[in-house]
Amino acid sequence: MLLRTPSDLNRFLEERGDRACVLVPTMGGLHEGHLTLVRLAAAVARERGLAGGAVATVFVNPTQFDQPSDYERYPRGLDDDAALCARAGATAVYAPSAEDVYPPDGSVRVPPIPEVARLPRLEDEHRPGHMEGVCQVVKRLFELVRPAAAVFGEKDWQQLQTVQALVAQEGLGVEIIPAPLIREPDGLAMSSRNRFLTPEQRTVAREVSGALRAGRRETTPGGTERAMREHLAAHGLGIDYAVVRDAETLMPLGEDWAHRPKRALITARLGSVRLLDNAPWPDA
Ligand code: AMP
Repeated sequence: MLLRTPSDLNRFLEERGDRACVLVPTMGGLHEGHLTLVRLAAAVARERGLAGGAVATVFVNPTQFDQPSDYERYPRGLDDDAALCARAGATAVYAPSAEDVYPPDGSVRVPPIPEVARLPRLEDEHRPGHMEGVCQVVKRLFELVRPAAAVFGEKDWQQLQTVQALVAQEGLGVEIIPAPLIREPDGLAMSSRNRFLTPEQRTVAREVSGALRAGRRETTPGGTERAMREHLAAHGLGIDYAVVRDAETLMPLGEDWAHRPKRALITARLGSVRLLDNAPWPDA
């Protein structure tokens, strides 16, 4: 069922009940990674007897783009996305207009972004304002859809930690369910933006996950960061960051690093495409 307006959505929620669905927020351009989230949401809703089932949103959120050109070219194909979601078990797809998400009276504020989103060298430094936009849209979608739980992919590791911190900070009362990162057969993390890669770039892009593998052969965080950077540079990939951080706080590792969960995180650049990837470190 495709819901386009707040009254469509409210009619759906009235029939199914408040806090009775599992939400999957997306920006569309859907691929197997997104569909894994939808299937997980549907399974959780079924297990818990939530009448609303899995509800996916498709909304290209203007406030999280730092480059207007990136926003304009972002893939849009609502009919295909809705059909894919239905096949993956979604009960509904809500595709609101920008005016419904952000009424022109300016009443939808940007919440203070949690510490984990503001750390040096990671997303906030390379995409200023991006995490503010993410926090704003997530809070607003939760307010509109009123889900019991929401599924977010581990592909965007810092975003996942940020949303978890936002929910705690703002008392949003939505359970956040992480979903595993889905890759192409050659290791490239699936992403809506991969379609912008030329065939030549596409063969280089797999070296981002190659860098994570190269890093895993090292035994110290410093050695891993060096190995990841060397691997990326050797394949002509630009580097926004290639780091090993505390998996939850995303802080640089301290004295107690051996006893903390850790994550290797890479964002590389290939032409106009940013490629994000991450993995547990050392091996899970
Ligand atoms: P997006 O449409 O790119 O904003 O992503 C919507 C949701 O899908 C986010 O929670 C992402 O982390 C998740 N996602 C995107 N790509 C993948 C992937 N390859 N594997 C797992 N989750 C993903």
